[in-house]
Amino acid sequence: MTDSEKKPAPAPAWFTKIDRERCIACGLCALHAPALYDYDDLGVAYGKQDNNTGTAPIPADQLAAFKTAYRDCPVQAILRRQQPFPPTAKQPVRPPHYTD
Ligand code: SF4
Repeated sequence: MTDSEKKPAPAPAWFTKIDRERCIACGLCALHAPALYDYDDLGVAYGKQDNNTGTAPIPADQLAAFKTAYRDCPVQAILRRQQPFPPTAKQPVRPPHYTD
């Protein structure tokens, strides 16, 4: 048996982003997973680690917090995939403290 046959396969990575058109700005996701989610000045959530592009894998030490946020979002606005999200021109993120 080779070394590669003895080691378990690594867990697949998860990627996340927020459907900002669905988000109702309740605040739960950043409460549960502050390293992954933040809010803009209107309270609408976005993915913090990659500016809501869904291209950065969730760090292993954040997976439990992610699962809690994903489970508790009241409108299923937290999206997840096991590969990076494709590019999209929709849903630009307004930075915190944005003023017109
Ligand atoms: S938990 Fe869902 S609805 Fe609430 S702020 Fe986060 S994404 Fe928006």
